Amino acid sequence: MAHVLLVEDDPGIRSALNRALLQRGHAVTIATSGLDGLQRLITEEPELMILDLGLPDMPGERLLDMIRATSDVPVVIATARDDEGLIVRLLDAGADDYVVKPYEPAQLEARIRAVLRRRQGTTAAKSEPPLRVGGLRIDTARHVVELDGTVVELTRLEFDVLVHLAQHAGQVVSRKDLLHHVWQRTDSARTVDVHLSWLRRKLGDDVDAPRFIHVRRGVGVFLEDWGVDRDRDSS
Ligand code: CA
Repeated sequence: MAHVLLVEDDPGIRSALNRALLQRGHAVTIATSGLDGLQRLITEEPELMILDLGLPDMPGERLLDMIRATSDVPVVIATARDDEGLIVRLLDAGADDYVVKPYEPAQLEARIRAVLRRRQGTTAAKSEPPLRVGGLRIDTARHVVELDGTVVELTRLEFDVLVHLAQHAGQVVSRKDLLHHVWQRTDSARTVDVHLSWLRRKLGDDVDAPRFIHVRRGVGVFLEDWGVDRDRDSS
């Protein structure tokens, strides 16, 4: 159960979602435009935001930038466009997850639960010292990854995937396992592959001669075990 801010201009979708969220025990605040959404975000401090991308007063992408300039609230994007490029940009811009319209309320509910759980996990990790794997330094407290001393910009999902692999460095992790631990759901392994390929690109990893992420065909992936160590020099 959470206090959810629902930003949606379509009255039909809005009332159906409002009903579904209330039935599942959430408290719902409604906004019908981008500006309205921003205002309610500031005054009502919701625990999570569901953001429609097609709003009448401003593009959802721009609104997300404005949200991230002022708030760390978890944001689940609802998009009508099944556009991989757009989804990548939004995750890079700070969205936590997304659903593609038309979607079932149960699907949205699963995303809400997963996002909130991931956030709790992140909060719990705040006291953990950084992980070191090879040239990678993963600071779970500050949510920062450095590769050979240079900061790598990762989305939340990419970060969570990398942390999970680093915590199991040298062990093969299946896609099912990643879905369960990072996404907390069980949809297609394709989702995992897409995020792994983005992560690989950002780490400058060559799929044919990987430095970090190795594939065991038909089984899963693993992060090269360079001797994982919790960083004790707390810099
Ligand atoms: Ca809309």
